[in-house]
Amino acid sequence: MTVQTTRSHNRGLANALGEMRDLLGDDNVLGQEEAAARYIDPYKVEDDAQFAPGGAVRPTSAEDVQEIVRIANRHIVALSPISTGRNNAYGGSAPRMAGAVVVDLGSMNRVLEVDEELGYALVEPGVSYLDLHAHLREIGSELWVDTADLGWGSVLGNALERGVGFTPYGDHFGHICGMEVVLPEGDLLRTGMGGIEGNNTWGAYKYGFGPYVDGLFSQSNLGIVTKIGIWLMKNPGGAKVFMVGVPREEDLEQCVDIVRELKLGGVIRNQCTVRHVLFDAATMLSKEQLYSEEGPVTPGGIREMQDRLDLGYWNLYAAVYGDEVEMQASLDKIASAYSVIPGARLYLPEDRPGPEGGVLRSRQQVMTGQPNLNELKLLEWIPNGGHIDVSPILPMKGADAWQQYQSMNARCRQYGHNYFSSFIFGNREIRHIATFLFDTESAPERENVLALAKQLVSDAADSGYGEYRGHIAMMDEIAATFSWNEHAQMRFYERLKDALDPNGVLAPGKQGVWPARLRTEREER
Ligand code: ADP
Repeated sequence: MTVQTTRSHNRGLANALGEMRDLLGDDNVLGQEEAAARYIDPYKVEDDAQFAPGGAVRPTSAEDVQEIVRIANRHIVALSPISTGRNNAYGGSAPRMAGAVVVDLGSMNRVLEVDEELGYALVEPGVSYLDLHAHLREIGSELWVDTADLGWGSVLGNALERGVGFTPYGDHFGHICGMEVVLPEGDLLRTGMGGIEGNNTWGAYKYGFGPYVDGLFSQSNLGIVTKIGIWLMKNPGGAKVFMVGVPREEDLEQCVDIVRELKLGGVIRNQCTVRHVLFDAATMLSKEQLYSEEGPVTPGGIREMQDRLDLGYWNLYAAVYGDEVEMQASLDKIASAYSVIPGARLYLPEDRPGPEGGVLRSRQQVMTGQPNLNELKLLEWIPNGGHIDVSPILPMKGADAWQQYQSMNARCRQYGHNYFSSFIFGNREIRHIATFLFDTESAPERENVLALAKQLVSDAADSGYGEYRGHIAMMDEIAATFSWNEHAQMRFYERLKDALDPNGVLAPGKQGVWPARLRTEREER
């Protein structure tokens, strides 16, 4: 869509930043230039100017955030909240709309409460997985953090974006219980049981009385969330993390169907992943160390890597939890289920003590609640490596996974890319996270990878699949694919947006939702 003009966003920016300086002090307010150098998409796919902020502020309390929002309304200045700002592969800390003032909530980084008996914590936006894990160990808690792949992201921001982890608590949004939210005009809301004065059930029961509204603040521009309750898993007493490699490309379909039966049958309870061999290879070594040719790795080259690294073509990483007897019984069932695939091999970490077991050891940490940064290694696959992710949701069925893999793989080749991906298993769905690595310093590569990503969004929609999340450079395109009944979803979101944020100040354009003052008529799109 075309945004009518950026002039209206800039109007009053200097005055607004001046008032924000009076509120927060000079140290906590950055002007346009400083903000544009700091709040960026580290793996940018378009010109910096496209997503450059107009300034940045660092509040330290919900009251500060309320005041910031009121100032923004007075001057009609757009705001863009971030927690730790590590939304990399989807836009980093850059705002969707150029000129917006980044509201960096990183200084609000307290763990306000840990309830050991009920298993939850109340956290502010700046608390990362690494922070929460360190805090729990420091206070002697037995509770586990369910971490995203990279432990430097925030518990709150990732959960709002509906990110995933890899224990049974891996559906991060699904484990939020209670939110505190600054609404677009400055009011403060507590959801669920937070509506009761003096309650002690805010972190225990999600739904409260009346409509359940927490979803309105996830992947949304209807509020700035200043606290969440997050449920934490009790240490189950034991955990065995394992890997199953299946040797052939075409084993994917059967592999996925087996995981579904094991998951829905309660044998595997965590959010497990099936990863393509190249994805694992890239978290172990660089392309140069494994392959001497220019351009994408050929099918023959992939097979050589598979042999050299002793991997399956597809590799399942999963865990069983409980006491020894329970875990052994589950592992026996899993081994038996996979015995129908010729050449399938099951490994425990002790079976792969050398470098070939690196991925499994790293998975062992995240599947037992220990955050790390190991998957950053992926970026060393090529020089100046960055990535953009395309993430369609599939039903948890092998036939769909196979169809999507084949269609994506063919497109990748057409654009001179290799297919890297992991399939993450949720409740009934798979998140098919396809990762495209590119040289961030090369303009033609950036252009090509964005064109590929947009093509894949469109291909997926043609087959009836939609993304669960998207890069700021593709939000309009992704939103447009949810078009049933003349874009009924978008028409509903826009009505909410206009009612709750009449001046259209909060994160305009996020998830393709623009406020009335900035949207063209739907027919013109
Ligand atoms: P991470 O936790 O991975 O570092 P970010 O802090 O970048 O993630 O947050 C991811 C996205 O979630 C942001 O781009 C923003 O759209 C949204 N977001 C983050 N924090 C908040 C918040 N406190 N309130 C509302 N939206 C938020």
